Amino acid sequence: MQVVPFRTWAEVSRERIAANFHSVRNAVGPAVEVAAVVKADAYGHGSVEVSRVLAAQGAKWFAVSCVDEGVTLREAGIDARILVMADYFAYSRAALVEYRLTPVLHTLGDLRDLDAFARSRNTSLPFHLKIDTGMGRLGTLSGAAEIACAIKDASHLKFEGLMTHFASSADYTRPQTENQMAAFAKVSDSLCALGVSPTYVHMASTNPIAFGRREAWHNMVRPGHALYGYLSPARGAAPHPVLQVSPALQWKARILATKDVPAGSLIGYGGIYCASRPMRIAVLGVGYADGLSHRLSNRGHVIAAGRLVPILGAISMDVTTIDITNCPSLQAGDAVTLLGSEGTVSINAQQMARMAGTISYDVLCGIRTRVKRVYV
Ligand SMILES: *Cc1c(COP(=O)(O)O)cnc(C)c1O
Repeated sequence: MQVVPFRTWAEVSRERIAANFHSVRNAVGPAVEVAAVVKADAYGHGSVEVSRVLAAQGAKWFAVSCVDEGVTLREAGIDARILVMADYFAYSRAALVEYRLTPVLHTLGDLRDLDAFARSRNTSLPFHLKIDTGMGRLGTLSGAAEIACAIKDASHLKFEGLMTHFASSADYTRPQTENQMAAFAKVSDSLCALGVSPTYVHMASTNPIAFGRREAWHNMVRPGHALYGYLSPARGAAPHPVLQVSPALQWKARILATKDVPAGSLIGYGGIYCASRPMRIAVLGVGYADGLSHRLSNRGHVIAAGRLVPILGAISMDVTTIDITNCPSLQAGDAVTLLGSEGTVSINAQQMARMAGTISYDVLCGIRTRVKRVYV
């Protein structure tokens, strides 16, 4: 096998990404468009490469958070539609046109502003409108009558999508999602009655797809997490997931040095670990500056020579120490697995997140650019 010449790297499986996409595709069926969410550099997987893989698999829509992310995809030659979900500022209007990006608007003021801009450019621009149905974040709280007026007045805009976003779609113990769906239906039905209906209606991220909440699919869904191989654990009595996905990313780091230390040795900054017996330790070429959470100090694990072994002491900026007493064959240059599997042992981003007191999304997005992405 060819040696990967990096001290730490993330191996992303194109095949897994494609398979996860098809799992979503097949679950929702041909009548539902899938907008692949590749924001935040595709949750750390690399948005350009992931989008290329998905475009080759037939993806027609991508969704990003900001204009810059959309520009990056266009400049890389991605030709599909790109929805910019959370970035409407006056200074980026020109880029929306130049790079054929489709904005999500969150206020009727933005709608009027974009219309004036489109008129000044003598062009017509598509947009999606987000309504706040109870998440209390982005999205307009205006009523249907007001929205319909603004849309009818916008002579240089095309009302292409109506959307909302759920706050707690994996939580089956509370009615928030039902309430949001009811609030959405009320606005969208009224808009229809007032004669404005968009091409796409969408509200589902991974969870409502995974748990088969068909009423939330309409004719477009916006999966992110699932594409990378994750479904959130449900709270309460959730239906069995309809998606079959598996993690696409494995994170590795090489051993810089190994050594035997006597009982009583203190390991790393602050001396927060004390060897209770003679031990063999390995120092890894990865640290919190690579995105390995400092909160895993003295509590996280990695997979070394097929075994789960503990992280010893504080995680440093650039190095991390582990206990390899039970895997003495390991040497400097060998790689260990931070995320992924070796044989039957595995650590996924959800498990790492639980240990670090965060969520899998944060773990994946937190893998820094210094960690080289390798596509396999
Ligand atoms: C991030 C995001 C998604 C994707 O969410 P996942 O839980 O990763 O599937 C969908 N829609 C919006 C508006 C988002 O911000």
